[in-house]
Amino acid sequence: MTMHRQLEIYVEENRKRFEDLLGQMVSIPSISMDPAKANDMRRMATLASQVLSDAGAEAQIVETGGYPFVSAGWMTGARYPTVTLYNHIDVQPAQEPEWRGDPFAFRNEGGIYRGRGATDDKGPALSALFGARFAIDQGVPINIRFLWELEEEIGSPHFAAGLKQRVEVPRPDSVVVSDTIWIAKGRPAMPYGLRGLVGARLTLRTGSKDAHSGVTGGAARNPLAELMEVAQACVNAKTGEVKIPGFYKDVMKPTKAEIKSFLKSGFRVKRFKEAYGFHSLRTDDPAEVMRRIWAAPTFEIHGLTGGYHGPGIKTVVPGHGELKVSMRLVPNQTPEKVFDLLKRYVAKLNPNVRVERESMQAPFKGSFDGPYVECVKRAAKAGFGKEPAFIREGGTIGAVVTMQKLWRVPILFLGLSLPEHGYHAPNEYFDWGQASGGMKAFAHYFSELAKMDSR
Ligand SMILES: [Zn+2]
Repeated sequence: MTMHRQLEIYVEENRKRFEDLLGQMVSIPSISMDPAKANDMRRMATLASQVLSDAGAEAQIVETGGYPFVSAGWMTGARYPTVTLYNHIDVQPAQEPEWRGDPFAFRNEGGIYRGRGATDDKGPALSALFGARFAIDQGVPINIRFLWELEEEIGSPHFAAGLKQRVEVPRPDSVVVSDTIWIAKGRPAMPYGLRGLVGARLTLRTGSKDAHSGVTGGAARNPLAELMEVAQACVNAKTGEVKIPGFYKDVMKPTKAEIKSFLKSGFRVKRFKEAYGFHSLRTDDPAEVMRRIWAAPTFEIHGLTGGYHGPGIKTVVPGHGELKVSMRLVPNQTPEKVFDLLKRYVAKLNPNVRVERESMQAPFKGSFDGPYVECVKRAAKAGFGKEPAFIREGGTIGAVVTMQKLWRVPILFLGLSLPEHGYHAPNEYFDWGQASGGMKAFAHYFSELAKMDSR
């Protein structure tokens, strides 16, 4: 029997087991952002380590000072190459009113797997594990390690500290990350670059409590209005252009070749709008949309709090306000420098506004040619019937930059999520098409890597 046929059978035979395990994992609300979920985070680590050891890998929970991560592996021979598979098993909060049903009550609707974390990133983690298990069963001469993180959604604050435990987490020869989104169903797309992130809270307190506008309005300062003024000075709301002085100085513009490769990715503005429910965009030119979401920095306003948020209006003059912002960064911007630019600029605009840093992640740029990229191409073709397009990704995976800094080994991406799966959105799901294709792609990836080493 050919490997191809055996793999087909393996994938079908393991479908029920995959669905059962995904259900167990999705049912734990591992929301790293929510301090009230600390117990669930521990339960998640325990279950993950159980899932990995049940699959035959040697697994351990590695303490980091924050939430732990799970490190596991099959060591088949010291002379074989070692690849580390990175996924994360913490999830975004799921408080959006649009959820149809409990986000943590897993539902399998004939191969559609619903629940928070199904596609980001528990489904891909399990698909990769099943692919790895097949490769090991086949005797592929490779050592496969797993890193399942539990702090990805909060910017991986303790990941670097955990990785330094070299016995529990040995340095691999390469890394493959499965936590990214294709452009369109049926067309694998693998990124070679990620944007960085600087998050900040701008707070302004002008009084000890809210006051009545009929009594104090006119004389009282309004912190929300002042914060809105700061926001207006930071970003052009219509064009998205960032107005912080010096912000674009280090930006490495995408080359013509990169834009050309973006255009081959099957990206469609219409589909992009439908997938994310947009009524209109700042531009409808495909090359410009892709440049903006993957290769250009941003300044985004996420929320403005303070004052009254109930029905109707209540005539208060708020005592304080908070503006929640973040900036996506591209190579070669540095988060520290950008945060500093923001802080100095805001101090000039309004010296009473406090700028507090939230998350900080550097951007990442890998390469899109070479032997590892060839392995990804062949693996995706084997799993999904099509060679992948190489693109950049607008999101941030801090752990990638951490691994790159510490290990200095090639980092590749083999993501399995689709735009319509609802990453970070209500009604998130994963599906059997992507899971089964993913298992096959990963199984092939490992045998390609092993072959590459012996060439
Ligand atoms: Zn993710």
